[in-house]
Amino acid sequence: MVEDCMDCQRLWRDYAEATRNHVRVENKLKTAVLKHDHDVVASLTADCEAAAEARRVAREAVRRHEVDAHHSGAGTDDAAAV
Ligand SMILES: [Zn+2]
Repeated sequence: MVEDCMDCQRLWRDYAEATRNHVRVENKLKTAVLKHDHDVVASLTADCEAAAEARRVAREAVRRHEVDAHHSGAGTDDAAAV
């Protein structure tokens, strides 16, 4: 990420937000599974898939921006970003 690029900052913030949301939904889903709360599991499974997709889209937007704006696509897929 380029520190003084507003787009980088915005996209990383969006990605961080999507990641937080995904983790939150996933934790709720795990709790519902443990409780055998089938209705909640069904509803949260859909939420979790949507959250995972939103996270993937946000990550892809970061990657695409880095390639398009900064020509630095390589090495951006670091585990520290998760
Ligand atoms: Zn940028």
